[in-house]
Amino acid sequence: MEKVLVTRRISENALELIRNEGYGLSIYTENKDLTPAELIKMCEGHVGLLSVGPNKIDEHFLSSCKHLKGIALMSVGYDKVDVNAATKHGMPISNTPDVLSEATADTAFLLMLSVARKAFYMHKTIERGEWGFFDPMKNLGQELYGKTLGVLGLGRIGLELAKKAKAAYGMKVIYHNRSKNKNAEELLNATYVSFDDLLKRSDVLSVHVNLTEETKGMFNLTAFEKMKPNAIFINTARGAIHNEKDLMTVLQNKTIWGAGLDVTNPEPMDRNNPLLNMENVCILPHIGSATEETREKMAIMAAQNIIKALKGEQMPQVINPEVYQKGLE
Ligand code: NAP
Repeated sequence: MEKVLVTRRISENALELIRNEGYGLSIYTENKDLTPAELIKMCEGHVGLLSVGPNKIDEHFLSSCKHLKGIALMSVGYDKVDVNAATKHGMPISNTPDVLSEATADTAFLLMLSVARKAFYMHKTIERGEWGFFDPMKNLGQELYGKTLGVLGLGRIGLELAKKAKAAYGMKVIYHNRSKNKNAEELLNATYVSFDDLLKRSDVLSVHVNLTEETKGMFNLTAFEKMKPNAIFINTARGAIHNEKDLMTVLQNKTIWGAGLDVTNPEPMDRNNPLLNMENVCILPHIGSATEETREKMAIMAAQNIIKALKGEQMPQVINPEVYQKGLE
């Protein structure tokens, strides 16, 4: 019986879809991530990989696992995949776009409001017995009504956040992409600006770009120092897009007002990281898409993709459709 390796326990409905097509399953369930060597070893005897979590799909992996018929990621981000190498090896790879956009935008929204009202820090003051007495000038946050939301990467998730921010607070939307998003401009009256202007004009700046060589480290001291003193920086995309030391510096110096992170650099974040105890900082452990409904949809989508690959058909959410053209290795 041909078998699929699934690198974490996922929705039973998704696993059932694969079983119902007549494939066997191996499910990795240990409480640690797989090393590259372990992943290669585990792939032996399998024809498909449903990859959940931070598995590196690089040249070494691909040349060691040529027997796989396809790889289905259970994530929209594919920064751990060397797409050129996969295409060179004729290995189809799929991701899970769209189904997680709303849940991830919710996480960005949650962080935006939590930072604005210092929610996580206020919770900690109660735990420390510091509630004390009523002081009208203490614990003051800032409001979001009518402020400007800047989105770096107004794609699927960025658009969902912009819709929420506009509906909830009438926020003006400005954005920066490599190309204009005409749909968002019509829908939200969003304004395209340069990266420099995005930094200078945003009251809340939320990052939704993919992690690539171009976006890695994009938020460094130079970028942060262009931001407004009342600005809130939100990152729910990937931790490597911001420089965490530089972020700490600008928060300590009050160059910017606050930050909300669902992604850190590195992950997991060290429990003694000073950012965790700063008043205007809210940090979550990479839970962007972590709702029951969304994880179910992601698992089903990944299962449907791997089934297609095993049948020799095109994966619906393939990220390297070039592999289906003839003439490749
Ligand atoms: P998407 O629809 O492809 O949107 C990405 C946007 O970024 C596009 O509008 C793209 O526009 C823009 N972009 C890409 N490179 C850029 C660059 N160098 N400079 C400026 N803009 C650039 O992707 P999505 O579905 O919204 O997902 C975005 C990212 O969110 C994923 O890659 C993933 O890393 C992250 N994510 C995180 C979580 C979590 O758990 N925290 C969950 C889901 C996704 P142009 O092509 O026009 O530049």
